[in-house]
Amino acid sequence: MLFRMYGMGGSGSAKGFEGMPSAGGSVTPGQVQRLEMNLAKTMMICEALWELLREKTGLTQEDLYKKLYEIDMRDGVLDGQNQAKVRDCPSCHRPVSGRHGACLYCGHILDESVFRME
Ligand SMILES: [Zn+2]
Repeated sequence: MLFRMYGMGGSGSAKGFEGMPSAGGSVTPGQVQRLEMNLAKTMMICEALWELLREKTGLTQEDLYKKLYEIDMRDGVLDGQNQAKVRDCPSCHRPVSGRHGACLYCGHILDESVFRME
């Protein structure tokens, strides 16, 4: 489910994850309800994974907060998300949209994270 949600389902489709309205389209109450249900389920899975990790490894809440801060700052802004905006390609130094995982000019891979949203 998580892989499908983040566009890793192997369908090869350019559209977002299932239930996501297309850009510029209207949002139906059914779509919002489905997104809310998927979000609640995803949060519950995260909570379960965190509790298992904490119990099995001895990691603390402080460890989690430090990691969240580190990940949040990867896009340069402390805003509760790690979704890069425009950035410079480290290879050819041209601007690349945060929506692209690779430089359109030289092909340099910029983001290999499976958690980047389309
Ligand atoms: Zn480049």
